[in-house]
Amino acid sequence: MAFDIHIVGGGLAGSEAAWQLAEAGVRVRLSEMRGGGDSTPAHETDRLAEMVCSNSFRSDDAEHNAVGLLHQEMRALGSLIIRAADTHRVPAGSALAVDRDGFAAEVTRAIDQHPNISVVRERVDTLPDHPTIIATGPLTGTKLAEAVAAETGEGALAFFDAIAPIVHRDSIDMDVAWMAARWDKGGKDYINCPLDKPQYDDFVAALVEGEKMPFHDWEKDTPYFEGCMPIEVMAERGPETLRHGPMKPVGLDNPRTGRWPYAVVQLRQDNALGTLWNMVGFQTKLKHGEQVRIFRTIPGLENAEFARLGGIHRNSFINSPRLLDGELRLKSKPNIRFAGQITGCEGYVESAAVGLLAARFAVAEQSGHPLPSPPAETAIGALLAHITGGADADTFQPMNVNFGLMPPIEGRQKRADRKKAYTDRARAALASWFEQLKVSEPA
Ligand SMILES: Cc1cc2nc3c(=O)[nH]c(=O)nc-3n(C[C@H](O)[C@H](O)[C@H](O)COP(=O)(O)OP(=O)(O)OC[C@H]3O[C@@H](n4cnc5c(N)ncnc54)[C@H](O)[C@@H]3O)c2cc1C
Repeated sequence: MAFDIHIVGGGLAGSEAAWQLAEAGVRVRLSEMRGGGDSTPAHETDRLAEMVCSNSFRSDDAEHNAVGLLHQEMRALGSLIIRAADTHRVPAGSALAVDRDGFAAEVTRAIDQHPNISVVRERVDTLPDHPTIIATGPLTGTKLAEAVAAETGEGALAFFDAIAPIVHRDSIDMDVAWMAARWDKGGKDYINCPLDKPQYDDFVAALVEGEKMPFHDWEKDTPYFEGCMPIEVMAERGPETLRHGPMKPVGLDNPRTGRWPYAVVQLRQDNALGTLWNMVGFQTKLKHGEQVRIFRTIPGLENAEFARLGGIHRNSFINSPRLLDGELRLKSKPNIRFAGQITGCEGYVESAAVGLLAARFAVAEQSGHPLPSPPAETAIGALLAHITGGADADTFQPMNVNFGLMPPIEGRQKRADRKKAYTDRARAALASWFEQLKVSEPA
């Protein structure tokens, strides 16, 4: 079959993108290497949209949870992935969990049967010159990854993530922490949390004793670079290591004591909105529950709310804030769009959402009627804005959707009310975007 747009990768993002394009009347060639003699170390079947680990799309609460809100927005946008998830839902409280086999079989059937899609079981090793969406995920085939790296330049494609936790700014206790840069050089750009000696000793001991996530067999050769070694590994090297590394206190006068603390944890702004702050040098393989427990012992972070917890995994992703334009096109080769986890979003739902947007932008481009970006007040718009420019390119690491990606709502409110205010505002913003789309469609 002749095609208008080529999609590489039939995972969560590629399947969603194929569906959106095909439903808009665009002919799609979907290349998926599984079923053609290749696989990834994590996939076990040849089905499209295979969930490689948990069977959960996380919270389905669209009133108080950002991923629940994203589900709702994707339903409104005709998402195949969320429709199949709803159909194959299994009991999981307020979460949207699915029967993974039924889910993937349904997506595969819908794609296979669509007259505008031809699925080709083949591996793609180069970046095509025709209109293409690359949706090859965290375990992108090696040769294609090399082609992406060659096109985007040194350091622009990561093969592992090294994620430090990210904290919501409004949950940091600024009566304890303070803003300053080391030796007062430059602006007061860092939030500093001070520890005294007993607090530091207890903290180091907790890191060493804390339960860690094991690596998968195929991840065991994960390189630790000196610059992104897990903090617990540094702690294991000796009690002073952290105090001479990311917890170094020198040059940081605590205005409340007039002295340098014994040790310090620094947080640096992570998004243009200033709502999210990352714990500098705190990449870790500690289990998520352990991270929350241990990091909340840091003075100033007792009530920290984490937008993202730390991790280290094999994960191919590009530096999207630097490389992509606002429509997910590669600036250096605009016939190529990226979608899914390779763009630096994180998770099944987010990957499918970015697949959906890549397809909508591609349809708009082909029809000659540009698509206005979804508002940053919506979950899908906030995610897009973050990966295509809102995130700090120098520290870019994969990100789940969360309220910290949205423009902040000012004023003090109870947490539940605040979340509701975000989701109410998002629904109104989505409705006005839909109105705008009607107007911008051809007469
Ligand atoms: C071990 C592991 C565990 C995870 N656990 C979770 C979890 O519990 N919850 C969660 O939300 N997310 C999890 N993730 C992340 C999850 O995989 C992604 O969020 C999601 O699958 C990404 O969707 P995607 O479409 O971008 O990539 P994928 O779903 O991985 O799809 C990419 C597809 O591209 C194909 N492909 C790759 N290279 C080529 C090529 N050169 N030519 C043709 N086809 C190619 C692959 O075979 C694959 O089918 C996990 C990831 C890994 C690796």
